[in-house]
Amino acid sequence: MTESLFPDPPARGPRPADAAERLATAAEEARHCRRCPLYRDATQVVFGEGSIGASMMLVGEQPGDQEDIAGRPFVGPAGKLLDRALADAGIDRSTVYVSNAVKHFKYEMRGKHRLHKSPNRGEVEACRWWLAQELDLVRPHFVVALGATAAQALMRRTVVLSREGGRALVWADGSHGLATIHPSAVLRQRDEPSRAQAYDGLVRGLIEAARLAAG
Ligand code: SF4
Repeated sequence: MTESLFPDPPARGPRPADAAERLATAAEEARHCRRCPLYRDATQVVFGEGSIGASMMLVGEQPGDQEDIAGRPFVGPAGKLLDRALADAGIDRSTVYVSNAVKHFKYEMRGKHRLHKSPNRGEVEACRWWLAQELDLVRPHFVVALGATAAQALMRRTVVLSREGGRALVWADGSHGLATIHPSAVLRQRDEPSRAQAYDGLVRGLIEAARLAAG
């Protein structure tokens, strides 16, 4: 297990009656977070969204360019693809809580464009402070990692999707879940047949998540 740079929030008990207020407070506090350097170049923090008590939480890697501008998770091209995959898997997005392992957009400039850059282990570990609070307050029955970075944040070790993806996992905090491909990875496939295959993998992962969550 990876040693944490930061301590966990207090251990879980029953969900507090004021969980919604505490989540809103955490989202407000995260706007001023300086736990890692990523706040410097991003427009704003992008906290999770959804209802307290959502039965399923989806965790991505980090906000993208459009999410950084909008201040909301999964509203750009990857979010639209996720919406379609959730619909194809029979999951209503309004019933899930969506968030990211890292709450600020990390990028590099390429000409006029801001290109996604993967967060490093220290940044993921620093931002787990916020993810742990979301998990503690939303208290979902099932947690889906979209991509290896989210799985690493939840498992606190490297997760190899080709080996551990698509099947039931127990995350480091004891919650149950599954890891599958990130929608951005579907979009990054170089040709249409590869994209279609990757998209099928995402939908299959979500279908299996819904099945396991129901069980
Ligand atoms: S990425 Fe996370 S840990 Fe780093 S500054 Fe932003 S909110 Fe804080």
